[in-house]
Amino acid sequence: MKVGILGGGQLAQLLAHAAYELGVETLCLCERKDEPASRNSPMLLDDGTTECLKEFAHKVNVITLENENIAIARLQFLAAHRPVYPGIKAVAVSQDRLFEKQTFTELGIPTVLFKDINNETELLSAWQDFQQQALLKTRRFGYDGKGQLRLQTQEDVQIAWAKLGTQPLILEGFLPFDFEVSLIGARNVSGQTVFVPLIHNTQHAGILRTSIAPFLDRHLQEQAEQYMQTLFTHFDYVGVLAFEFFVKDGKLYANELAPRVHNSGHLTLDGANISQFHLHLLSILDLPLAAPRFNYPTAMLNLIGSLPDKKEVLKTSPGVRYYDYGKEPRAGRKLGHLSCMAKDEKTLRHKIKTLREIL
Ligand code: AMP
Repeated sequence: MKVGILGGGQLAQLLAHAAYELGVETLCLCERKDEPASRNSPMLLDDGTTECLKEFAHKVNVITLENENIAIARLQFLAAHRPVYPGIKAVAVSQDRLFEKQTFTELGIPTVLFKDINNETELLSAWQDFQQQALLKTRRFGYDGKGQLRLQTQEDVQIAWAKLGTQPLILEGFLPFDFEVSLIGARNVSGQTVFVPLIHNTQHAGILRTSIAPFLDRHLQEQAEQYMQTLFTHFDYVGVLAFEFFVKDGKLYANELAPRVHNSGHLTLDGANISQFHLHLLSILDLPLAAPRFNYPTAMLNLIGSLPDKKEVLKTSPGVRYYDYGKEPRAGRKLGHLSCMAKDEKTLRHKIKTLREIL
């Protein structure tokens, strides 16, 4: 059995590692041969042609992805040759913040206020409707806080329009949330679904910094699972799905979807009985899914921009797991992550604080 992965970044690398553990082969289709997954998976160089896609499809049994920003026409071409999971409908919706929020609304899943923006007049009027507290975002290709600007004054509105006005845009009401959580769930081809306990996330400048799990809140867990189940059914979804929420006054507001394994789910690698990478592969191979649970309170700290000295990290916090994706350092780039476990949450918080001091 061979799984084809579109992309060769750290998510493909971690998927390929899980595949190795399961005795499954992988082949990554990527634009450069030195991408992180090249360390543990064969690669096929993507020259952008349909011949290349055909060759890729014929070399694998099933196809999945590590990044949702793939041209839908290419996915359709591949889907004519091999099963592509998750399905094209889910990928198309998750590529566009407007489609995502329209889908949430259509399915009765609460989300932030939003309005699609086609010109500066619409922007000004929507910003006024949203009590002058809003975020202007590009509908597509935004990640890690890129392609979004906070609008608090009329001058911000003008500057934001000048910066982003050439692209399709969405205005979102700024929600002064209490905290952020994500739900990772999986559905296999036969329709079995499982959910990971909620993960508490802290972002800075739009980039995920720290995740902690399990975040135990029965009401929020049930609500989040119900929303994800609705999406699973709507999309006839197969694979891992990540769902990010804002929490305000004990209520969930959908932020965004990732139709793939997700950065906030990395702590399942070390702290849970089954990782999101195994769950994804088992789902697309239609194998039974174990119910995920955390063995210990677990934290994940992203390593962004530069990598700390391995020896110092391991000396400071024995038992910490150090993941180095093998990427070139660059400001704002996710280069790796640390995960640590502790017997209780208080000890975990102390460990995080100690690690933060040397990052
Ligand atoms: P996003 O790329 O849309 O997930 O945004 C990155 C981060 O910006 C989120 O995780 C939040 O911390 C913050 N953010 C995004 N949208 C909103 C919003 N409508 N209200 C408040 N904060 C937001």
